[in-house]
Parts: sequence; C-alpha cells; structure tokens
Amino acid sequence: MTTNQQEFDRARGAMPGGVNSPVRAFGSVAETPRFFVSASGPYVTDVEGREYVDLVGSWGPAILGHAHPAVVKAVQDAAGRGLGFGASTPGETELAELIAARVTRDGSHPVERVRLVSTGTEATMTAIRLARGATGRDLVVKFAGHYHGHSDGLLAEAGSGVATLAMPGSAGVPAAIAAQTLVIPYNDLGAVREVFAARGDEIAAVIVEAAPANMGIVPPAHGFNAALADIAHAHGALLILDEVLTGFRVGPAGWYGIDPVPFAPDLITFGKVVGGGLPLAAIGGPAALMELLAPLGPVYQAGTLSGNPLAVAAGRATLDHLDSAAYARLDAASTAIAEAAASALSAAGVTHVLQRSGNLFSIQFAAEAPTDYDTVKAQQAFRYPPFFRSMLAQGVSLPPSVFEAWFVSASHDDEAVSRIVAALPAAARAAAEA
Ligand code: PMP
Repeated sequence: MTTNQQEFDRARGAMPGGVNSPVRAFGSVAETPRFFVSASGPYVTDVEGREYVDLVGSWGPAILGHAHPAVVKAVQDAAGRGLGFGASTPGETELAELIAARVTRDGSHPVERVRLVSTGTEATMTAIRLARGATGRDLVVKFAGHYHGHSDGLLAEAGSGVATLAMPGSAGVPAAIAAQTLVIPYNDLGAVREVFAARGDEIAAVIVEAAPANMGIVPPAHGFNAALADIAHAHGALLILDEVLTGFRVGPAGWYGIDPVPFAPDLITFGKVVGGGLPLAAIGGPAALMELLAPLGPVYQAGTLSGNPLAVAAGRATLDHLDSAAYARLDAASTAIAEAAASALSAAGVTHVLQRSGNLFSIQFAAEAPTDYDTVKAQQAFRYPPFFRSMLAQGVSLPPSVFEAWFVSASHDDEAVSRIVAALPAAARAAAEA
C-alpha cells in the first residue's frame, strides 16, 4: 500500500503540480491531497484505505451519490455496445429531448435545440461564439468572481481555481482577446447599465452564472437575472445563462426554474450533473439561434467525442433518477449540513455567514453576506484551511478552497450527515483559533 504523500510525490514528477486540475493540489489548504481509489454513495476511499464522507461530489456530477447502481449499469451496458462511433446515436436525441423537456417554467421552453459537448468550458465557449455569430458583435460582459471554464476570453477575474490561486487572470491570453471581455462587479445593475450605455452596440452577450457558486455561494439579488436580461435585450445583446453548476442540481429546471423572478435567457449552458460523472456538457436555446451552428449555419463547432455514448448513458440515467424524491433528499441533507455547520461556527464564536442559493450553500468568514467578488475576497479566508484540515482528519472531505460550494448528494443519508455533524465542532474550534 502507498501513502497519499508517496502518490503525490510521484505525481509531481509526472504532471505539473501532480494534478490535472489546479485546485486538486490542495495548495490553499496546505494539506497533502488525497488520492482516491474508489467511491460509493456519499463516501470516497483513499489509497491508504481511509474512508471520507464526500462533500466534493466530483465537483457536482455525483448528485445521486458515487457509483449509483443504475448509472453504472447504464454505462456498462453502453460500453458493451461500443465506446463511440463518431456518428450519431439514438441516445443523444433522447438526452437532448430530456434536457429540453426539463428546462421549462410556466409553459415556457427556452431550450428547443441542444448541442452536446464534452466540458463546461466548451459549452460556454460555444455559446459565446454563437452569440457573436448571431449579433455580429465582439464584446462579452462577464462578472468578477464568476467562473465559466478556462477558455481565453473568460479567465479575467474568474472564480474557482483562479480565485483560489489569487490570480487576476492567466498568462498566455493575448491582450487582444482579453480586451474583448468587459469585467464588471456582480449584483450591481448600475455597472451593467453603465457598460451597456458606453458600449451597448458592440456587446454580443452578457454571460452570468445563474446563481454564482465559484466564489463560494453569492446569491443573485432579487430580480437581478431578470433585469440583466432586460438590459441586454434592450441593447440587442444576448443573455447567456451559465447553469453548468446549478443545472439539474438546484431543481429539475435548474436556477431558471426557481429564480424568484422569472426571466428569459437566450442561451443556457449545462454540464456536471447532465453528464452523470462522465465528460458531457451542453448548450441549449431556441431553434432560430441554435441552428446558426454548423452544419445548418455559419458558426462552427465540433467534437470527436461529443455525445459520446457512455457519457450520454450516464447523463440519461442520472436525469431519470433525479425525481422529486431525490431532490427532497438532497434538499433535506443540504439544509441539515448547512445549519449544523453554521451553528458549530456560532458556538465556537467564529464570525461567518451561511450563503445559500436553493440547495447550494457555502460558509464565508465574514460578518455580512458578501454580494460580489470584492466582498468575498475581504472575508477572513485564513480560517478555512484549519477548518478544512480538521474535517479531513475526522473523515470528511470538503472542497479544498473557501471559494467553492459544498456539494451534497441525494445519497447523503442520516449516517453520512451525522458523521459530518459530529466533526463540525472541533473544526469550528480550529477555525476560531486561526
Ligand atoms: N461554468 C461553471 C458555472 C462552472 O462551475 C464550471 C466548472 N466548475 C464551468 C463552467 C467549466 O466546466 P468544466 O470544468 O467542465 O470545463
């Protein structure tokens, strides 16, 4: 048997930082990353044979719990029929229809056509190209602290790993490309109006996380998404709603279905849950826009593995099992864990706020609820690493950054929740002593 440390040392000789995605290196929490060998339901097991209650959930896809039998069987069956054909399969149409049917509210159907891709990064990249192709404009407005994947134009003041590493953006992005993205503060309609007043006729789209979860959770102000849609539309620009993280998680129709003020996005991007743990993401929108994509239209987009049959099978099985009972379990477990975390921190005298958007939540070490990236960054982030390390030592695997949501699954049953709850008081004391 090897240790996590031995695995990490070896990995660093083979891969930059020992990882294939930066946050996995655990740098911001100053702990040896765990190397996992298996997972089941709410639990993951590392190379040392230690089991943890998992609150990372593969960063969202494991919404039914790890290795859900129906999902595993669907993938095994699909694999037996062939790993991929580079040609169309009936399952892709079925998944596209399932996505379109689910994303509805008050009789509206914003998704008439779907294109399947392999990652959330591709989904937002394609949505932006489509918006540019449709409008004949170049500029994109994004919000500081929002993460839409790692394409060139979207890394400026991005959340998630870019926030964790405190990077303003990325080297290697040409200035000419960065200049096509206008970054403004979140939850600030004044800033939105200002940017549109100044450059409205050059703006192709505004892209927004439906409910931001990559700078921790920062809920949209009441009516923010609706006002954003109105302002964009008044200037002939599109609203790209990024539901890669929230889609099919906060409810069957994603954040679109539960925002307190209904609104009309033009393009919606999906990922994570929709692929059931395999690489799959999607862009959806009205036929008139989506059919600007090749082969029907002039906007090119393609993928060798797009609509891969194993990923499609995992996505379909996952959506099939995300019924109202599954959401009820997920919501209940989320509430129990969130409230226990907040009360443990209160008991230890740690200044914090519990930030929630539907069943998504995170803890921020601030006296008042952060509303944008600046207020998020001003929190006492130094309290998170000792909190995280204490939870890990007690067998709970949290996201290794204060800038991430805690991912609960429908498989977090009473036993899993009580293991988390039992670990919280000591972790809260560790945060207090930081
Ligand atoms: N958009 C959002 C809102 C995300 O949370 C993420 C990933 N965390 C992405 C896009 C990028 O997805 P991927 O990592 O699959 O490229």
